[in-house]
Amino acid sequence: MAIESGVVVVGGGLAGATAALSAAREGAHVHLISANESTLRQASGLIDALGYPNPDGGGDAGTDAASGPLADPFAGIGDLPENHPYRVAGADALREGLALFDDAVGDLYRGGHTDRNALVATTSGCAKPTARYPRSMAPGAVSDERPMLLVGFEADTEFDAPLAAERLSAADVPFDVAGATIAFPGDHRADAAVTRLAHALERDEDAGQGRTTRQRLADRIRPHLGDAERVGLPAMLGDAHVEEVRADLSERLDAAVFEVPTGPPSLPGIRLSDRLFTALDEAGVSMTTGMPVVDFESTGGADGDRIDRVLIDRNGARIPYSAEQYVLATGGLVGKGLDSDRERATEAVFGCHVPQPDDRTDWSAEGAFADHAFARFGVEPDGAMRPLDAEGVPEFENLRAGGGVVGGADVAREQSASGVSLATGLVAGRTAAEEV
Ligand SMILES: Cc1cc2nc3c(=O)[nH]c(=O)nc-3n(C[C@H](O)[C@H](O)[C@H](O)COP(=O)(O)OP(=O)(O)OC[C@H]3O[C@@H](n4cnc5c(N)ncnc54)[C@H](O)[C@@H]3O)c2cc1C
Repeated sequence: MAIESGVVVVGGGLAGATAALSAAREGAHVHLISANESTLRQASGLIDALGYPNPDGGGDAGTDAASGPLADPFAGIGDLPENHPYRVAGADALREGLALFDDAVGDLYRGGHTDRNALVATTSGCAKPTARYPRSMAPGAVSDERPMLLVGFEADTEFDAPLAAERLSAADVPFDVAGATIAFPGDHRADAAVTRLAHALERDEDAGQGRTTRQRLADRIRPHLGDAERVGLPAMLGDAHVEEVRADLSERLDAAVFEVPTGPPSLPGIRLSDRLFTALDEAGVSMTTGMPVVDFESTGGADGDRIDRVLIDRNGARIPYSAEQYVLATGGLVGKGLDSDRERATEAVFGCHVPQPDDRTDWSAEGAFADHAFARFGVEPDGAMRPLDAEGVPEFENLRAGGGVVGGADVAREQSASGVSLATGLVAGRTAAEEV
């Protein structure tokens, strides 16, 4: 039997969650369908709005965008091309998307007190511009002048703390920074999962020699402390009880302990995902996870085609879900919202138009970090986030899109991925709900 909702959101990443919350706020009955648990569980947990509006330099955003990060992401929006999602979604969309995020995550995050970007220390020793950051990373702000110690673990080859410290020092940060590598306390395999180590810190069990995991960790850090007034460790200081672990270690070391964002799997990403899914529950959004939308049915209408229902795959059975309005939030090439073969890049669920050069050799440029056309691939929406066909007509009168599936931004180079998801997800969810 078909399940009916006012709005069906396809995709459970940041854009899907934002669209669903935004539609629910407008009073719509919302159902969210996601193929996987959530890609947020892999993400760093940082919410970037706009770090480098024009990564190749030039522009008039009040900074030398080629050499330094943007202080105020809102100041850079006017410098972006007209088809950039921030320009298409409208001037207030980013601000409102960030406000919705702040409401949903509460005290888990910091950064909402200002329009300006924070600079957060990363495992590679960069100062990354970001609009919102987990509370557990707050003492790692690069604007803070207190001396810093970075501590990595022998088994974690991704975070070379002495090298990161060297790079930060070379970048002329306004504080002294040192790095040390130590062994994680207790009897753990060299390739132990970060979640296992996080739980060991959270449970704080006996780690040998009559000392607990946290006591022994503090014992190992102390000889490296020097004058440091803050200590950064890889982001694995517990799961739900990270604040308790941080407070305990901070007291033992008499220094502010903070987390440095890491690659997948990411504890801050897992915490964010859990918090957003709780917010979705509280907003009355129903959910189907672990099953992809594999097909849809539509009928022709006066203002264009209309989607009647989507079909999800449940162990080979095709289950229909119908709604008045649909939001496509399936991500880009990474999230599987876009498919590509030797010939074309296509939007994977509804087959929406994806503008692209005819010649595949024009998809990419020389060099890994160059200005690649494919990085901006995605559907091209109107101001209500409806994907347009090649003639500029909405593909479906009742379909909107948000997040990585929307084209026009190279979010990796600009450092704007989450901001684009918040801005476009907010508008897609709201305009969908307004039509229910
Ligand atoms: C490793 C990693 C690190 C990141 N780091 C940062 C960072 O430092 N700063 C920052 O701002 N952003 C970062 N991001 C980006 C951010 O987390 C989001 O991925 C981005 O904003 C795009 O979100 P999205 O919701 O559009 O797509 P995605 O996050 O890709 O989510 C797409 C969702 O759609 C679902 N889906 C796809 N196809 C179907 C289908 N057919 N049926 C049903 N569901 C489907 C997927 O299962 C997934 O839940 C990072 C992401 C990753 C993966």
